Amino acid sequence: MKRFALAGNPNSGKTTLFNSLTGSTAHVGNWPGVTVDKREGVYKKLKEQIAIVDLPGIYSLSPYTPEEVISRNYILDEKPDCVINIVDATNLERNLYLTTQLLEIDVPVIVALNMIDEVKKAGDSIDAEKLEKKIGVPVVEVSALKGEGIDILMKRACECCLKPRKGTTVLEGGALMHLVRDCKIALEGAGVGNALFHAVKLVELDELEVAQHPQAAETVQKFKETFDDETFGSDFEAIVADSRYKYISQNYSNALVRNSKTGKEKLSRSDKADRILTHRIWGIPIFLVILFAVFHLTFSEDFLYLGAMGALGKDWVSLEGLWGEGMFGSSDGIASPGVILFNLLDSITSSVSDAVSSAMTNAGAAQWASGLVVDGVLGGLFSVLSFLPQILVLFMFFSLLEDSGYMARVAFILDRIFRKFGLSGRAFMPMIMGFGCSVPAMTNTRTLADENERIATIRVIPFFSCGAKLPILTAIAGGIAQIAGAGNADVITYGMYVLGIAVAICAVLLMRSTTMRGEVPPFIMELPAYRMPQAHSLAMLLWDKVKHFIKKAFTIILASTIVIWFVSHFSFDWKFLTDDKINDSILAGAGMLLQPLFTPVGFGSQLGEWGWVFVVAAITGLIAKENVIATFGTLAACITSSFVADEALGGVDSVVQMINATGIGVPALIAFIAFNMLTIPCFAAVATAKAEMPNKKKFNFTLLFWIATSYIVSAMIYLIGEWWWTLFIWLAVFAAVITLIVFHNKGKLNFGRMAWLKKDGRSE
Ligand code: GDP
Ligand code: MG
Repeated sequence: MKRFALAGNPNSGKTTLFNSLTGSTAHVGNWPGVTVDKREGVYKKLKEQIAIVDLPGIYSLSPYTPEEVISRNYILDEKPDCVINIVDATNLERNLYLTTQLLEIDVPVIVALNMIDEVKKAGDSIDAEKLEKKIGVPVVEVSALKGEGIDILMKRACECCLKPRKGTTVLEGGALMHLVRDCKIALEGAGVGNALFHAVKLVELDELEVAQHPQAAETVQKFKETFDDETFGSDFEAIVADSRYKYISQNYSNALVRNSKTGKEKLSRSDKADRILTHRIWGIPIFLVILFAVFHLTFSEDFLYLGAMGALGKDWVSLEGLWGEGMFGSSDGIASPGVILFNLLDSITSSVSDAVSSAMTNAGAAQWASGLVVDGVLGGLFSVLSFLPQILVLFMFFSLLEDSGYMARVAFILDRIFRKFGLSGRAFMPMIMGFGCSVPAMTNTRTLADENERIATIRVIPFFSCGAKLPILTAIAGGIAQIAGAGNADVITYGMYVLGIAVAICAVLLMRSTTMRGEVPPFIMELPAYRMPQAHSLAMLLWDKVKHFIKKAFTIILASTIVIWFVSHFSFDWKFLTDDKINDSILAGAGMLLQPLFTPVGFGSQLGEWGWVFVVAAITGLIAKENVIATFGTLAACITSSFVADEALGGVDSVVQMINATGIGVPALIAFIAFNMLTIPCFAAVATAKAEMPNKKKFNFTLLFWIATSYIVSAMIYLIGEWWWTLFIWLAVFAAVITLIVFHNKGKLNFGRMAWLKKDGRSE
């Protein structure tokens, strides 16, 4: 089978093209650095099937970043039949820089001018034929997003991979060409393949080449001593880069016909937006407001603040007696879209479990059997499932923020502040990915060149609350709102997300200034263009989430709830217990044994006989975070049915049930959320962290770090919440720690700077 590799700058649309070629749903994001590893798929539309490899985005073939090394080695060593060089046509000159390097390799190359739709929309045009003549390899206009030109691209790629191609260089005629030629002859003599490419890299004194061909490198060094250029001295790398750019602007640039007016207008519009959104002072408050708006839309029971303003209850806006009362709002106010969807699903699931329950009773099923099915399985599953709509709504907003290009700006704002403390803006991307799922986010840290920065980042990724933790936050926030009689679940959920971010930042600062010191190498990153989010890719993303969630619900969560139900209905001497006796169960026994450990964080011994449920729920969360609420669902259904009738409860109801049974207070509930959010993440994330850590010791320390962080933060919340004056003790302790660190590090910290490039190449 033939293999075509996709190579191009970050954010040029490689993954979009890969998805439309292979029909897969790999993550596409409007920021650089989403694809870290290479990824394979198959193109099936031609007679002969073709393997497509999506390489990580690169600006050049130098070995400065892991992405560059992966892409370079793939093209040189695995020798694909054709390299499809994706070029962002809206940013032609800078993208062609990589093209000039790819051309030096002895491999068939075809240039795909992507995003041609945007070029046309701006009123510009590109003369592809002219460009093709100049570059000497096929050039095809495509729009990966709209699926235009892709068949032609593949057809021409198939033609061009039939005949072998010898590398060519744009350095021909330049000051260093004879040196390149000498090196090339020497390398060819030594039987090295791709002699031209290696010769050019040798002249640039590229680390990898120098190590591989020390003899030829010596020749270059000797020549270098005699050489002196007016502008660049003897910096051969700079001279080569300069000749590439000169060649591009003299020979390729005129293929682009600019309708200059609209081009400038558009740039200035995005500049204006950036001036506000990335403002030095207002940038962060704006981000927090946008984030709050997202949470408000997803979780608020009082969407328009009618309840808060006291407007409801008056005759003219009363919801009473209307169809859908309760579904669309209550006396507290009108529900947000997320809550309406939640209520809708909740009413469906509760009628299903009612129906199942009465069907089983009518059929004369044994009490334990209906208990297992209704309380154990349905109670557990539905309490988690009921949050699916809100999870989807939240992800939809996150995805809109990401696709529009705004999230990359958030990374930019944060970078400005935190690079001082040893964290580059690049580390924020995997962190923000952590809002979705920690597993791919941890893998994404491979883009970080400094190992200590990478370790520190992996450790804090779980603090960016993932989709699976959302039910914990929402259910307990809902419970708190209900016992406090307010419609403010959105404020609590939002607050917990922000707490997670804050703890992550503090923890990184602490690590980077103590055990995980290291330099952040300077690197360049591009602020992507603002783009209209695409309905199609959004739908794909959400569908992926639904599939993932359902799969998890019917495997891990289902199995866990069944186990929980059994161990809560058998005593240590294996006697079956009815619902009202589950305090004598194996599960209760184990929970009670551990209960004292959790007294300082608010959900331990002080909660009395039902308190073990909180402990057990937190522990089941180590398998999958959804289990925390599923466990509540299962056990609360039992508690209720020992008082009332058999009935499975929704997530929020089961929390309220547990609150009533234990009398737990608000500070302890918040501490419980914080504990679950910050402690050891789920099984899958732990396994990924283990695989990504350089050694066992670092991994063990990571586990310890998670336990310690969650314990300290939740203890702080609980203690300050219950006894406000303990705040001063905490402050004193933190002040002492900070002073110690500052003294210890005097003059030792020095982190590299990072340059951000604007779309037009200006650097910030
Ligand atoms: P990668 O980093 O090279 O893999 O780039 P992605 O495939 O993740 O795409 C980056 C951004 O460009 C996303 O927001 C895409 O929706 C957008 N994009 C990709 N191809 C096109 C295209 O042909 N036209 C337009 N207008 N946008 C595109
Ligand atoms: Mg990609």
